[in-house]
This record gives sequence, C-alpha cells and structure tokens, in this order.
Amino acid sequence: MTLYSYSRISTYETCPLQYKLQHIDNIKTEEEGVEAFMGTRVHETLEKLYKDLILSKMNTVDELIDYYNAKWKEKWHDEVFINRDDMTEEDYRKTGERAIRDYYATYHPFDHNKTLWTEKRVVFSLGDEDHKLRGVIDRLDKTPEGVLEIHDYKASGRMPTQEKMDADRQLALYQIAVLEAYPDTENVELVWHYVLFDQEMRSRRTKKQLEELKKEYIEAIDEIEAAEEFPPNESALCDWCGYWEYCPAKKHLIKIDGMPEKERKKEKGYVLVDRYVELKEQVSQLGEEIEDVKEQLM
Ligand code: SF4
Repeated sequence: MTLYSYSRISTYETCPLQYKLQHIDNIKTEEEGVEAFMGTRVHETLEKLYKDLILSKMNTVDELIDYYNAKWKEKWHDEVFINRDDMTEEDYRKTGERAIRDYYATYHPFDHNKTLWTEKRVVFSLGDEDHKLRGVIDRLDKTPEGVLEIHDYKASGRMPTQEKMDADRQLALYQIAVLEAYPDTENVELVWHYVLFDQEMRSRRTKKQLEELKKEYIEAIDEIEAAEEFPPNESALCDWCGYWEYCPAKKHLIKIDGMPEKERKKEKGYVLVDRYVELKEQVSQLGEEIEDVKEQLM
C-alpha cells in the first residue's frame, strides 16, 4: 500500500487530476509560487536557528538574515512565478526577512521550552498496517509544565480564524504521531506561527476527535486507492498549479498566450470562455431584474 501524507491527500481533495499528474504519472514541474518559495526560505532559517540551539549555538539575528539571503540567492530559479503584477521578487524577499526579525525579537532567547524535534520525519499508523501516513513535523517542544507542543510555521498572507484552526487536520494528524512516540503524554497542544503577522494560533484535540480523524483518513485513502477517474476540479487554487499544459480546463489558455490578438479571439477555448463570461453577466442581470419585479409585486 502506498504511504500517503496529509498534503498528498489534500491534493486529491483539491483536484483529482492534479493528484494523478503529480503522484501517479510522476510529472515533475519546476514551477513554484513565490509565496511558497519565501515560506520555504523562512522555514529553513528557523530550522537552522533551533538545530543550532540544540548544539548550544545562539545565532544573532543578523547571522540568520545572512543565511536567509544566501539561501534565497542560491535557490532562486526561473520557474518561480509571481502572480501579482504590483509585486516584485525584492518585495517578497524583504517580507520574509521582516518575518524572521519579528520572530527573533518575540521569542529570543528561545529558552522557554525544551526542543525535542526539529524537521522530524514521522510515519504513523491510523489503526492498522494498511493505513499509515508520513509527514514532517516542524518542531516539537516540551513546556516546563510537561505539555508537548507541535509547532508549525506558516507564511500565509492571511490570518485564519480560531474556528479554522480548531478544524485543522494536519497538526491533528501529527498529534497521532506524537502520541505514538510518547504514549504516556496526557497534554498535547497544536501551535501555528503565522510569521508574516508575528502571531501564534493554538488549539487542542480530544481523543474522540483523533479517533474520528483516523476514520476520515482511512476512508480518504480507500477512496483514492479505488479511484479510476481523476477529473480536473477548477478552483482559485488553479493559479498556483504547475500543470496547466496537461489540464483540459486550462491548456487552451497557455496555447493562446503568445498569439496575436486577432487569432486569439478566434481560438475555440477563448471563444467559449468569452461566451461563458457573457452568459454569466446576463444571468446576473436577469437576477437583479427578477428581484426588482418581486419588490414591485409586494
Ligand atoms: S489547473 Fe486546476 S483543474 Fe487543472 S489540474 Fe491544475 S488544479 Fe486541477
């Protein structure tokens, strides 16, 4: 049985076709959104901070920023794409740098908890040998009160609500892994660092919630294993998908990208999208008219 991960299953839930291209056909794409690129650079800088601390080395914030900038330069490649026309590579680089400075100022001297794991690869069971998951835990801390904290760094540009974090499944799954490694632990807390906002979010899970989550993921794995069709599922997330050239819902947009305006307007996909937008506008106008008439009748 394939070893699944939270992100692999999420890809299937978001778009079965993207899942197939990535995980079954193994088509590699170099494309990477600049937000993900920046998040990875911030991530590896914080990893260095805590790995060095385990060996009693306290980096200064400037040493960390030098490390971050060196990695940024070393890893930047032509396939990193920026969706926003009004933003540049430098804007994103500076944003990541500010996030590291803020994090450092907030948590220095980093001695409140004991760090047990950094970037720890885990494989854990959902209840039987056929259903296992793998993952990487950013950091596991033990507080002076004996609570195990699972930490995760997020470079998202939006702060989530508490409700969203209480429903988050990734760290809850990692709690199953932590409890497998430390079965005597009574208290586990999930902690997200929204580094662009210098804010923490926290949440806890009951044993009952973890059992329900195991069931949910066993069903998800069984569904993927049984799947015979992998249809595209268009959503706002398509903007960050690197498989447009293989996707029937999007490939015409790549084809027409370099065409002269006259030819582009004749292209079938373009014509259909245009017609679709036109019809949607008409539907919305009709909706407004219906509301007007309704009001007059009342
Ligand atoms: S572009 Fe959208 S619909 Fe097509 S494979 Fe990617 S995520 Fe799926």
